Amino acid sequence: MKYPDKIIIVTVILIICHPAVGLTGDDPSGETWWQLVERANRNEEYVSALDYLSRIEINQPDNPELARARVTILNNLGNKYYQERDIARARDVFLEALEIDPANFVTLRMLGEISYFSQHLDDAERYWKEALAVKAGDPSLRAQLTKLNKEKKVEGKLNSSSLANFDIRYHGGDSSYDIYDIQSNLLEAYQEIGYDFNYYPIGSIVVLLYTGEEFSRLRDAPHWVGALNDGKIRLPVRSDQLDGDEIKAILWHEYTHSLIKDETNNNCPRWLHEGLAQHEQAKVIPVDVSPLDGAIRQGKLIPLSQLDRAFGFDQSGGAARLAYAEAYSLTEYLLEKYGFWKINVILQELKKGRGWRDVFEEELLMPVSELEKEWREAI
Ligand SMILES: [Zn+2]
Repeated sequence: MKYPDKIIIVTVILIICHPAVGLTGDDPSGETWWQLVERANRNEEYVSALDYLSRIEINQPDNPELARARVTILNNLGNKYYQERDIARARDVFLEALEIDPANFVTLRMLGEISYFSQHLDDAERYWKEALAVKAGDPSLRAQLTKLNKEKKVEGKLNSSSLANFDIRYHGGDSSYDIYDIQSNLLEAYQEIGYDFNYYPIGSIVVLLYTGEEFSRLRDAPHWVGALNDGKIRLPVRSDQLDGDEIKAILWHEYTHSLIKDETNNNCPRWLHEGLAQHEQAKVIPVDVSPLDGAIRQGKLIPLSQLDRAFGFDQSGGAARLAYAEAYSLTEYLLEKYGFWKINVILQELKKGRGWRDVFEEELLMPVSELEKEWREAI
């Protein structure tokens, strides 16, 4: 079950030129309003920056430079909300920017991205096409549009069912599974897994249930990939191969990825992501750790420093199975020794954008190499 990171957050660098006249402020520090705008923006205090900017705008309502500055700061604010997973506010802010400048590349691209991840594919296509008209030939946006068009052909035909935080898209005519079972699997995941992590995402999570053939067509993934989470949960329901519990286990696994991504602002090492996802999955069906035995006997365990790389699409099925087994075993070792509450503390620290090695060393009071040694001795 592969978990690539696909969300692209556009970094916005504020470049505002210094407008020439009439911008002197009257604050006690003597700084001009403009300097306050710049400082607030630099400190990522975008709401204040907009407020300071409005003091200048009162006297120069038609200054295009000020309008450009407003759009840039709104884009920064929208990006900040987006990174904090406050999608509704991010969207409002980008729409406000769009009112001022309907041809701003960053605004259009981000509105497209928000529409895409909330499964409003027509809106996403419209915004991205408009963005491409502004910056013709942007290669990554072109690639996104191509991917979107492929997905639209399949996903446009799916039925939709919204329940609580889940926006589920599925084949209504497929009688091999019951959509109510899928819904209850997800609701249970939300409650049970949320209880472990003490975290309940507030945003909507898109779950796409494909046929096996559709899944292969849309994803260029190796055969060992059973489902995907690239910001949306994508699952091939091969009913001839999967029973109800297996589908539930995959949904729990993938939902755990969504939760961790949301909780840590997408800053969790891959091995811990996969370890925790399997920990939750194992509550439905036990995880196969047999690849560990041979690797231990032959001294071929993957070093922790290389474990994240071992989940790549370029890996063989055998190598990937070993990586999953190791991630699971190490995570179980951590949970047993320190408890889930410690993992939650670590996740909270990761949310601040810190490197995982620093966080582990600080929280576990030992070097990561020591942790790895202890775990190897224990298995
Ligand atoms: Zn996974």
